[in-house]
Amino acid sequence: MKGVKSVQFTYRPTEQTQELLETFRMMVNHAIHISLEEGIKGRLNLRNRIYKEFQEKYGVISCYPYSVAEVAWSIVKKHKRWQRRPFASRLMMKMDASNYSLNYAILSIPFKKGQRICIPLEYGDYQRSFLMDMTLKRGSVTLTARTISISFSRRIAETEPMSKVGYDLNEKSIVGSDGTKYGLSEVARLHTEYGVRRRDFYEKHPRDERPRRKFSEGSRERNRVKQFLNRVSKAVVEKARANKQAIILERPKGIRRVHQKGNGEGRERRRRISQWPFRMLQQQIAYKAAWAGVPVEFVDPRNTSKTCSDCGFINRKLKLTEREWRCPSCGVNLDRDLNAAVNIERLGKIPCLPLVRAGAEGRGSDEGEREQREATLILRADAFKEGLQACPED
Ligand SMILES: [Zn+2]
Repeated sequence: MKGVKSVQFTYRPTEQTQELLETFRMMVNHAIHISLEEGIKGRLNLRNRIYKEFQEKYGVISCYPYSVAEVAWSIVKKHKRWQRRPFASRLMMKMDASNYSLNYAILSIPFKKGQRICIPLEYGDYQRSFLMDMTLKRGSVTLTARTISISFSRRIAETEPMSKVGYDLNEKSIVGSDGTKYGLSEVARLHTEYGVRRRDFYEKHPRDERPRRKFSEGSRERNRVKQFLNRVSKAVVEKARANKQAIILERPKGIRRVHQKGNGEGRERRRRISQWPFRMLQQQIAYKAAWAGVPVEFVDPRNTSKTCSDCGFINRKLKLTEREWRCPSCGVNLDRDLNAAVNIERLGKIPCLPLVRAGAEGRGSDEGEREQREATLILRADAFKEGLQACPED
């Protein structure tokens, strides 16, 4: 399997890098304009349209029209739903692996014909390990006003899992079928904290233009949530790697469906919980797992929280506000999230290396299996009661 990691460096901006970024943004906005005015759809059509014109007008080398078209088209696509005209406001530049060169820590980017910009990267031990590792393949580079991100990839043999662990993701926590639990209320707390700050700011300075920048994408709120989720995903993947587990997750649509009208949640709460932290956490787990060789599988989220993990009974009347799973059929009593996590784990089809099961011999196989299942459920419930796992700091 292929693992990809994006590594961030800092650098000292110069007049040249500033010119590069501003030219790139100008080209992107020009390309957006062309796409809208002439109805050109798709990044390849857009690239073909601007290929000659942009090289002549801006004096850039021939690799630029391609990445300009890619960035411009992604903005046009994203803004279709919006009222105002799409526009690239952030300074950024993207370039494919085949066009730049990286000599230890000196990044060399071609710009105008016959001109290259050399940028010394600033790095710590973490970044250094990527620069030094010659087995890694280098991918695209992204330059912003303050940072440079380079994506590295590697092929890694997938570990053969001994067991599976399913994770149920909800607003308050991520709960593993093996009883691990990480609290996520920090995400909601950050949303509320920044939401209050935003409101206060608008009330005090109704005509101020700053909040748009202050609270826009890439804001501190987003970064802090991202950092927090990074620690959680790191812990989840690290544990799976150490225990030779495969990770089973719900397909992202599950979360979107949960937070909708008529599921017993108040409007206020639905509004507060946005979707991106959940998708971000799933993505982080998937990326980190791929990098570590841990298999990940996404399963259909249908009924995972409404099914009894012990007898299979489906309780369609279950409301989101009920935090306990009390099975109307077999009477088993479990934490709601743990019950869902066990169901998610069972849906995983990744084959595991066989475990030798003690105590399952000498009896009818059905009975043995049933006892085994009960024993694991009790173990899981006990582990769960021990409470929240501390999230390791980076
Ligand atoms: Zn049951």
